[in-house]
Amino acid sequence: MSLLSLKGVHKSYGSHIVLQGIDIELKAGECFGLLGPNGAGKTTTLRLALGLTHPQAGSIHLMGHDVLTHARLARQQVGVVAQTDNLDPDFTLRENLLVYGRYFDISRQILEARIPGLLDFAGLSARADERIQSLSGGMKRRLTLARALINDPQIVFLDEPTTGLDPQARHLIWDRLRQLTQNGKSLLLTTHFMEEAERLCDRIAIIDQGKIITEGSPQQLIRDHIEPQVVELYGEGAAAWAHAKAARLCERFELTGGTVFCYANDAKALLCELNRGDFTPGLRFLLRPASLEDVFLKLTGRDLRD
Ligand code: ADP
Repeated sequence: MSLLSLKGVHKSYGSHIVLQGIDIELKAGECFGLLGPNGAGKTTTLRLALGLTHPQAGSIHLMGHDVLTHARLARQQVGVVAQTDNLDPDFTLRENLLVYGRYFDISRQILEARIPGLLDFAGLSARADERIQSLSGGMKRRLTLARALINDPQIVFLDEPTTGLDPQARHLIWDRLRQLTQNGKSLLLTTHFMEEAERLCDRIAIIDQGKIITEGSPQQLIRDHIEPQVVELYGEGAAAWAHAKAARLCERFELTGGTVFCYANDAKALLCELNRGDFTPGLRFLLRPASLEDVFLKLTGRDLRD
């Protein structure tokens, strides 16, 4: 069964067109990532899928329900981790889970049986009776994630789940999200972090200017859109060196913020030239495999969207 299906979805706010015909199909057990520059319509897509806002055209089905008519019913079977943690500061961790569970009409007995496992999943069992204020940002995120599982959903929506977290906290969230998919849950997440999408997502859709401009597994997108090897040049003289030499040694190059990105099917000739050391002493370079970020920047451009 398709857990979530959006077909031909159009969404405007007044005269501002946000989505122009979006199709998404989420399958059981997969992690699907929505990527796009700021304002591309990622959060709007999540809100539409949950029936929190309505499209001007198109159909949306969630957990077998038409969200245009039965959003409440569909949402009963879904977990949501919103962009900002909205835990209740007046309650303890345990109470937060309990109160949230009551919104789903889950009996106190079932909730009390479920909560220890969820606190354990969040790595917060020892703090069950503390207030929310005592938690770090990472702990709050993990609790919000655990809270989203209170109704044992098959699908969890996550809007930028690791924004604002330090690397350690981010890795812990990634670990928990992987555990969820290993246990058969489906995830639909939005993110600005390409590394996050590359590591977690089975499939990705990149949205830009209201349309899905490409879709596939991270590896497939890299293979389809980008030369496999990237040499980054930076420091003194990088741009001048690239303009003089790079064009004939790689497939293409781009200059952004003082760094030159050289994309090559085979970077041997480029590295050979660089290893001759025939450049200013301040120039540095590194070779790396192409990444999802390269795909994203190639397809959506390097201009700021704020
Ligand atoms: P993203 O999550 O990709 O950054 P959003 O879905 O939040 O993008 O927003 C997409 C566009 O829709 C933006 O231009 C935003 O200003 C606009 N938008 C979102 N919600 C509303 C709203 N409630 N009213 C008017 N415009 C909105």
